[in-house]
Amino acid sequence: MNTPAKIKIAIIGGGPSALMLAARLDNIKFDVTIYEKNSAPGRKFLVAGDGGLNLTHSEPLEQFIKRYTPSSFFKPILHAFSNKDLQEWFNAIGIPTFTGTSKRIFPQKGIKPIEVLNAILKVLKDKNVNIQTGYNWRGEEMDADITVFALGGASWKITGSDGSWTSYFKNKGIEIIPFQASNCSYKINWPKNLLSLAAGLPLKNISLKSLNTRKEGEVVITEFGMEGSAIYALSPQIRQQLNEHGKAIVYIDLKPSLSSSALIELLKSKPSSTTMTKYLDNVLNLSKSQLALLKNLTTKEDFLTPENLAAKIKELPLEIIGSGPIDEAISTVGGISLSEIDTNFQLHKLPNQYVIGEMLDWDAPTGGYLLQGSFSMGYKLAEYLNKSTVVNP
Ligand SMILES: Cc1cc2nc3c(=O)[nH]c(=O)nc-3n(C[C@H](O)[C@H](O)[C@H](O)COP(=O)(O)OP(=O)(O)OC[C@H]3O[C@@H](n4cnc5c(N)ncnc54)[C@H](O)[C@@H]3O)c2cc1C
Repeated sequence: MNTPAKIKIAIIGGGPSALMLAARLDNIKFDVTIYEKNSAPGRKFLVAGDGGLNLTHSEPLEQFIKRYTPSSFFKPILHAFSNKDLQEWFNAIGIPTFTGTSKRIFPQKGIKPIEVLNAILKVLKDKNVNIQTGYNWRGEEMDADITVFALGGASWKITGSDGSWTSYFKNKGIEIIPFQASNCSYKINWPKNLLSLAAGLPLKNISLKSLNTRKEGEVVITEFGMEGSAIYALSPQIRQQLNEHGKAIVYIDLKPSLSSSALIELLKSKPSSTTMTKYLDNVLNLSKSQLALLKNLTTKEDFLTPENLAAKIKELPLEIIGSGPIDEAISTVGGISLSEIDTNFQLHKLPNQYVIGEMLDWDAPTGGYLLQGSFSMGYKLAEYLNKSTVVNP
């Protein structure tokens, strides 16, 4: 008896979403080929590992889901394959993980990003997944029953994810949302004096607020403006204001652990024998960069009036006038509109063609959420294709 021919699946792009999809597809049912433009898959994944490969985050799932925009889109995806599932999966392929002090999850100490990538590629090899490198897709129909696009976003073009695919989808009537930088640096016109004192210095244990969303973390003052986890996490709020008004306001709380009233009491009890600057340094433990920020962005009168100074310490407004270059952003929003796909990532207008990963229009902060989002989409699509029996007519 002849065995039925396998269903051919072409996955275009070889990033985390594609690799997880290929790792989970049923190789009895499918003949899978990844087509990757570069000479090897996973270049952006390796770049992401440069400062420590932050695979995901350990916070409870309900909280985790809220980090995504839109979170309603991600809820079923993350329920299908959660942060805990990802950790277990890595463990099962020989990559144990550990949770850092920030609750972020990394491969265990000593395991290099390339070893993580190789462990994933070993799974693919064992499943006979073909990887065709040096294949630059330019809009042609693939010789396959099912095509999955996993071409990535539009930052860090050097890694291969250059967003040059938009015209091919536009030509088929598919809505493309223009790319914008996310998780990027933001431009602030700092006073020169502040830069000479604080450029390159971190502001630790602060919180930032914009449009009623508050994020704790760390930022760095730079010549350009500001970067770091706390401001990256406010990207949706900042982008909204920049798009609407050309500028955005972010309030920085330099002492989140103290209430305004406690702060006023403390400032009022400053002995007259000491200066306010010394007092802030010794009693409030404000760092050099925090002091520079306060002194350069408040009037002398406010600085010397406890109520006014406390208000500035708790809510110092910073005006953001732009975002950093898209190519330097950690991720992008924009790309294929979510309205163009069904709940299984299939394009309404192109049956048997699916889209996953950062090429879809969604947003999440750094901290492992971007990789988790891409891995989970690959996983969920594989589960769906493994279960669905026929290719659509
Ligand atoms: C500097 C940096 C640091 C990051 N740090 C983190 C982090 O710590 N944690 C985190 O969660 N995320 C991080 N990210 C984000 C994360 O790496 C991405 O969100 C993720 O890689 C997206 O996966 P993807 O599968 O959608 O696409 P990508 O990883 O972008 O892969 C897409 C692939 O498609 C290929 N391709 C593109 N066009 C074509 C074409 N026409 N033909 C064939 N192939 C094509 C590309 O070469 C690429 O290999 C970081 C990103 C950067 C740039």
